[in-house]
Amino acid sequence: MSAPRRARIIVGLVLAALMLALLPSVEAARRSRRRARRATPVPMPALLVAPQASAFDQRVGDVARAALGRRRGAVVAMDPHTGRILALVAPEVAVGSAYQPCSVFKIVVAIAGLTEHVITPETRHVCRGGCWLWPGHGAIDLRRALAVSCNPYFERVGEQLGYERVRHYANLLGLGEPTGVNLTGESAGRVPDTVRPEQVGHLSSHAAGVTTTPLQLAVLLSAVVNGGVVYRPRLAPAAGFVPEERWRLPPGTILDGLAEGFVRAVNEGSATSAFDPDVLVAGKTGTCSRCGWFASYAPADDPQIVLVTLLRPGSGHTASALAGRIYETLYKSRVSIVGLPASHARAAGR
Ligand SMILES: [Zn+2]
Repeated sequence: MSAPRRARIIVGLVLAALMLALLPSVEAARRSRRRARRATPVPMPALLVAPQASAFDQRVGDVARAALGRRRGAVVAMDPHTGRILALVAPEVAVGSAYQPCSVFKIVVAIAGLTEHVITPETRHVCRGGCWLWPGHGAIDLRRALAVSCNPYFERVGEQLGYERVRHYANLLGLGEPTGVNLTGESAGRVPDTVRPEQVGHLSSHAAGVTTTPLQLAVLLSAVVNGGVVYRPRLAPAAGFVPEERWRLPPGTILDGLAEGFVRAVNEGSATSAFDPDVLVAGKTGTCSRCGWFASYAPADDPQIVLVTLLRPGSGHTASALAGRIYETLYKSRVSIVGLPASHARAAGR
């Protein structure tokens, strides 16, 4: 055997021995990392209610916190008629973190399209594919497009509007600036100043480039529900609360067809996991970039509460299931809840 060959064999044997010696310690390190992960459980999210919060506010917060559990996300509960925040679960996320609102942004595009007379609730567009549903939704109107969250429908409307007008309505609905909530650390979110013409469609269906906090979406949906008042949200007890308007949507703003789309989303569309026979829930889902959203309210025919749920990672499906569980718990025990009159009960099966 030549000397170099002998040397190679010796080096190989030494390396093999070294690896054999090291293997147990690598495995031990892996085991101890696994143990450490098990030993430090994800903490439950923080819950924020106002000092002197009513038993009802506290109950909403407790139920929402328990429903979110150890998942990453946030819940905002708001009175849509005053902008009063009943409870915040994971407030640092709900107020301080902005994420792509995904298809919840279609609400903005719908209001812009209606008000600028680009569409009516009856306007139909044909979805031939390029949608999340293969091979497309066919010819559908605004209500169904909202219910099933059809992408080509809103891409078309956004392109017809142009970005200037989409941005204008996003700002009118409070996006792109802080809400002025009485809490520190608020994020302003983002609405781009300009986008290239070829990006308008995708922005209109997926909110690409836009970010919003869960709180901003609660204010936005409240404005839709209450007929156009954009409130400064405040965490405060109900007793003696005086609502503070930031502005009203201009006269002539059209919100027709939206509510029906929100109800149909829960009954037959993208948010069927929020279906609860005890209360009529309505809302809009969003799924993208590992974010799951559901911006919702109940009872649908006489909204008493707006709930925005965010899950990360999540989908519109899981976020609406989370909201569904909160509504279900709250409304099942409505007899003992001050603030949710029994008249809001719905016969099972309706
Ligand atoms: Zn479609």
